[in-house]
Amino acid sequence: MLIYHFEDNIPLFRCSLCGRCDGFIESKSYINKNRGCCWYYPKYTLMDIKNIISLGREDFIRELSTKENVYKSNYFLEVRGYFDEEGYKKSNLKQDIDFDTKLFFRLCPFWQENGCKIEFKLRPHPCNLYLCREVIELCKDGYSEFSKERRDYFSYMNYFNEVIKHELMEKRMDLTSDFEGTLDFIKNYQVPNFEPRLLRELHFINQAS
Ligand code: SF4
Ligand code: SF4
Repeated sequence: MLIYHFEDNIPLFRCSLCGRCDGFIESKSYINKNRGCCWYYPKYTLMDIKNIISLGREDFIRELSTKENVYKSNYFLEVRGYFDEEGYKKSNLKQDIDFDTKLFFRLCPFWQENGCKIEFKLRPHPCNLYLCREVIELCKDGYSEFSKERRDYFSYMNYFNEVIKHELMEKRMDLTSDFEGTLDFIKNYQVPNFEPRLLRELHFINQAS
């Protein structure tokens, strides 16, 4: 089953197969077999940061910025995870898959044994709208409305991210040179909320769902 949830300007695709996807190509991992597709290193754009500030969770962003594994760029924060480089080199995997096989050796730092350890509103938006190809195939035609919603939300986030970035550039401000001032600017910059579709839950046929 696939359910759409939208709250505080943050969307979530909730899939009943997540966490029960042993054997799916994207959940394959040589470092932890229950990792699902959490090989991603979360990247917080200005708009992700804005959404989190709007929740009143500036503390989360501040804490991230102090961590050793967080790369602070002028206009985003990236939380670096684990990569088993030695295991990857030794593996000598055939490159007949149409994506980078390094992901089999990567792990997000927010992952824990029973899934993601941060609530969905504190994740960057790609985490909340990602579905693997196996799930998309199971959804068949029913996925098209979810796909449109995903595309529209990404467009909305990218557009206003660029708007805020250009405003900051004009003011010669950024996250590396003036972290607090930039957070303050992002907090007070007015952005209209996204208008979500009303998507009905989607039932797909799978033994595990
Ligand atoms: S999107 Fe697919 S691979 Fe990722 S956790 Fe869900 S079922 Fe597993
Ligand atoms: S932040 Fe959570 S959902 Fe996103 S990749 Fe990491 S563990 Fe997975």
